[in-house]
Amino acid sequence: MSRLSLNVQILLGALAGVGLGIWLSYLGPAVALTQQGLFAAGLVGMVFVDLLKMILVPLVFTSIVVGVANLRAHHQMHRVWLTTLGFFILSMAMAIVLGLSAINLFEPGKGLHLALFQDAMQGFQAKQMSLAEFSQSFLHGLFVNPFTALSQGNVLAIVIFALFVGVALVAGGERYRNILALLQEALELTLRIVGWVMHLAPLGIMALLLKLVATQDVALLSTMGKFVAVIVGTILLHGLMVLPLLLFLVTGVTPLRFWRGAREALVTAFATSSSSATLPVTLRCVQQHLHVKPEIAGFVIPLGATVNMDGTALYEAAAALFIANLAGIDLNLMQQMIVFLTAMLASIGAPGIPSAGMVTMVMVLQSVGLPAEAIAILLPVDRVLDTFRTAVNVEGDMVGSLVVQKLTRGA
Ligand code: ASP
Repeated sequence: MSRLSLNVQILLGALAGVGLGIWLSYLGPAVALTQQGLFAAGLVGMVFVDLLKMILVPLVFTSIVVGVANLRAHHQMHRVWLTTLGFFILSMAMAIVLGLSAINLFEPGKGLHLALFQDAMQGFQAKQMSLAEFSQSFLHGLFVNPFTALSQGNVLAIVIFALFVGVALVAGGERYRNILALLQEALELTLRIVGWVMHLAPLGIMALLLKLVATQDVALLSTMGKFVAVIVGTILLHGLMVLPLLLFLVTGVTPLRFWRGAREALVTAFATSSSSATLPVTLRCVQQHLHVKPEIAGFVIPLGATVNMDGTALYEAAAALFIANLAGIDLNLMQQMIVFLTAMLASIGAPGIPSAGMVTMVMVLQSVGLPAEAIAILLPVDRVLDTFRTAVNVEGDMVGSLVVQKLTRGA
C-alpha cells in the first residue's frame, strides 16, 4: 500500500468506504458487526476531521498574512483583490442560473404534494431570519476579537484580521521583517504537519464515506428521488463542464491536468462536507500539484473557502424554487431574481461547515414569502447533497486561484 501514491490510496479508500457502507447497510443496523463497524468508522472519521480542524486555524492565519504581505510588496494586491472577487461573483452567478434553469426545466416538485411533508414541517421550528437580520449578523461577524476568532475557529473573522496584519506588515516595511520571517516559517511548519495528517487521509475518507453510506435512509431518498437527481446532475454539470471550461478558456489548463492535481482535495471535500476542514488539503493541492504561487493561493483559497460557494449557491436557489413548486406557487421572473440575489448572499454568508447552507437557506425562502418550516422537507436529503455541493465549492476555489494567477500575471 505504501508504494501507491497518496492520490491512488485516497481513491481506493473512498471506493472501499462506499463498498463497505453498502455492505453494512445490507446487513442492517441490528447486526453486531454493523454496530461495531459504524462505531469504529465514526472514531476514525472524527479523528481525521479533528486533525484537519486542528491545523486549520494556524494555517489560515499564516497563509493569508504571508500571502498578502508578499502581494503588497509586489504592488499586486489591488488587481488580485478585484480579480478574485470578480471571479467568485461570476462563478456563483453561473451556478445559480444553472440551478434555477434546471428546476424550471424538470419541475421535480410536480407529482409531490406539500401535504406529504406536513408532519415534518409541523414538528420543525425554523429560526426566522430576514434579509436585514442576516446582513446585520454577517457584518457583525466580520470584525471579531482575533483571540476569540482564533479560539473558535471562526474562519471568516480570522481571514479579515489576517488581511489587516498582512497590510500593516507591508506598510511598516523593514521595521517588521522579523515578524514576517517568523510567520513565513510558521506557515512552512504548518504545511509540514498537513503533510503528516494527509497520511491518514485514505483511512479517514474511507471511514467517513462508510458511515455516510451505511446510515442513509434509502426510502426517503427515493421519495425525493427526482429532486435529488436534478440537483446532483446540475451540480455535476457545473463541476464537470462549466468550471473546467472556464478554467481551460482562461488558463489553458486541461480538465485532466486539473483533476489530477485537485482530486485529493475534491475527495476530501466530498467525504467531510466541509470546505473549512478541507482547506489544508486544498492549499496543498493548488500549491504543490497545480503550481499556484503561494502568495496567490494563500489569499484566494482561505477567502474562497468561506465566501465562494458555487455548489451551495446553486443548491439554495434551486431548492427555494422546488419548495415554491411544491407549495403550488409560481415564482415570476422578478421573484426569481430575488432568489438569485439572496441565494448568492446566503452562500457567501454560509460558513464552510457541514449543512451550513441549510441554515442560511431560511433567508432565501423568506425573501419570496415561502415558509421557513419547509426546510424540514430538505433536511433528510441534505447530508447526501452536501457532499456534492462541498466538492464543487472547493473546486471553484481551486479554479479561482488558477484563474486569478493567470489574469494577474505581470501586474
Ligand atoms: N458544507 C458546505 C461547505 O462546507 C456548505 C453547505 O453548503 O452547507 O462548503
